[in-house]
This record gives sequence, structure tokens and C-alpha cells, in this order.
Amino acid sequence: MSARDDTALRMRAIESLLIEKRLLTEEVVDRIASAYEHDIGPLRGARVVARAWSDDGFRERLLADGTAAMGELGIGGFVAEHVVVVENTPELHNLVTCTLCSCYPWGVLGLPPSWYKSPEYRSRAVREPRAVLADFGVELPAGTAIRVWDSSAEVRYLVLPLRPPGTEGLDEEALAELVTRDAMIGTGLAQAPA
Ligand code: FE
Repeated sequence: MSARDDTALRMRAIESLLIEKRLLTEEVVDRIASAYEHDIGPLRGARVVARAWSDDGFRERLLADGTAAMGELGIGGFVAEHVVVVENTPELHNLVTCTLCSCYPWGVLGLPPSWYKSPEYRSRAVREPRAVLADFGVELPAGTAIRVWDSSAEVRYLVLPLRPPGTEGLDEEALAELVTRDAMIGTGLAQAPA
């Protein structure tokens, strides 16, 4: 049995038990699962980044208090109660991991990718971040330092990626389309406009 099957089975067992004990209804479980699958995708984070690129005042508030600033956009809630936003610059690239388990800002980015939870990523991100980035196809200039952020149950991190060149005329909606999930974890860069 794969780890994935094992987890799925456990989830089903826990779900059945909660429903049996009348702590939850099937409908609530379905609604939560569907929200994380369809609504709370990385698009929420992308909206935050696009606003920060377009509005300097928002960007400053976001870096000072990520949770409060995201609240202005109605974004936050479950597993995004304390989000710290870290800004990429030409001199510094930020990379997020959780060395202990797999803490992730669900409320902003949706479900974490499976590699984020892998022991390999969690240990290598700290030991050899530049090699990890190369595996993701990201080559940073030699002069760009990398800072690795270790998430915890209390604090989750969101990377504010560099705004790509050639995007001066784009509105927030168009900008948000350039912001990938990986760019907000730090394993990717925002995409150049088509
Ligand atoms: Fe964790």
C-alpha cells in the first residue's frame, strides 16, 4: 500500500468516525474539501501578489503585517492566521519549507503540492537551496543570496516574487496570471508575460 493510499484510508476512517459521532456531517466535509480543491487555490495568493505589485501602500502594509493586509482583500482564515510575507529582491531570493513536517499557508495557497511534504525537499531546501532551485529550473544570478524560511504551526510564509520586466501596462488581473504557486513558495519565479 502506498503512503497516499494509507493517508486516504485514514482520512476516510476519521471522517466516518466524526460523522458517526455526529461531530460533523458529510455535507460539511464535502464543502470543506471542495473549497480547498477549487476555491482556495493559489489564485488567492496570486491576487495578493498582483495587488502588492500595483499598489505600494498595500505592499508596505503586506510586508509589515501579512495577515492584516490580506484581510483587506478578504483573504485569510483557516491556516492563514499568521502569515509573514517575505519579499524577493535582485539581491535576495526567499525559499519556504517546513523542516519539521509540512506547514503551509493553506488559506492563501490551497493544498500543498506533494513534493513540499517530501522528506527530500524539506531537508535539501535547507542544506543546498541553490541545487533545489536548479532542480526546479530556477537559476539565480551568482550574486543573489538565498534565504530559507522554516514554517511552523504558528507562522506560515508567503514569498512576494519579483515583478517580471515588461509588465508595466498590465492590470491586476493580468498580473495575477503570471504568479504561480511555486513563485509564492520560492521554488519558482513569476512568469514573463506572453
Ligand atoms: Fe510543518
